[in-house]
Amino acid sequence: MTRVVYVNGRYLPYREAGVHVEDRGFQFADAIYEVCEVNEGHLVDETRHMERLERSLGELRIPLPMSRRALSHVMREIVRRNRVHTGLVYLQVTRGASPRDFPFPAAGVTPTVVCLARRVDNAKREARAESGLAVKTMPDIRWGRCDIKTVMLLPAVLAKEAAAADGAQEAWLVDSEGFVTEGASSNAWIVDKSGTLITRPTGNAILPGVTRRTLLDLLSREKIPVVERPFRVEEALSAREAFITSASGTVMPVVLINKVAIGNGYPGELTRFLRSKFHQAAELSP
Ligand code: PMP
Repeated sequence: MTRVVYVNGRYLPYREAGVHVEDRGFQFADAIYEVCEVNEGHLVDETRHMERLERSLGELRIPLPMSRRALSHVMREIVRRNRVHTGLVYLQVTRGASPRDFPFPAAGVTPTVVCLARRVDNAKREARAESGLAVKTMPDIRWGRCDIKTVMLLPAVLAKEAAAADGAQEAWLVDSEGFVTEGASSNAWIVDKSGTLITRPTGNAILPGVTRRTLLDLLSREKIPVVERPFRVEEALSAREAFITSASGTVMPVVLINKVAIGNGYPGELTRFLRSKFHQAAELSP
């Protein structure tokens, strides 16, 4: 339960927290966000999340609303005040509130900052990791800058809704050439018959996942072969294993794609190994 929310310098009760009706995040999705995992009271990979937040802001020319140190303090304070031991912290920065007009407002508009934290039911998440996820493929109808973590998430909402209607927990988005870009809210991975991992390289077509990056570190440390290249849906269907990565689920096995079983239909051995080792490779806040 989120009980306290940070909004523009104030810690407010959940029901009283709000932003201006002419906030550009609300009107234009002129805003970026980050989601950071809270694992046993520690923020996971905070440095990488902060680096990506600064990059997203820079790409959209939204000024950093406060120092990285101050943002970090807000995140910790929100986690503490909401007594989140296992869960997520969400941080959003918009260009601010200004009378509706497409171009950037004149200088002097202050960015809006919202931060909230919420508990995650760990037992439920572990049960999901034990059984594995079902994925549905959907056309990737997003824009040309998916590397920026904006709140412009309607294509992801529609894809996930379609997936849910089909009994799937994630959608894999597919580009016009039949290659998987990424999950609606995750990065996509497969393991081929020789045990090599395959995931799409970063670029404008996908979000450079923090979990993806940390997993690449783990793979290099464990000397597990990985190739960063695009793969097609057909290749995924005949893969030995498949999984997704995200801050909210770390490494989550995929056992069904479009209702077709992947491998033997159970979470793969390598996937389970990587899930079990993930937090050893991640940065955990003190
Ligand atoms: N791709 C998309 C489109 C996402 O929304 C997310 C989750 N925010 C990811 C990938 C995974 O990124 P991360 O590992 O940083 O959570």
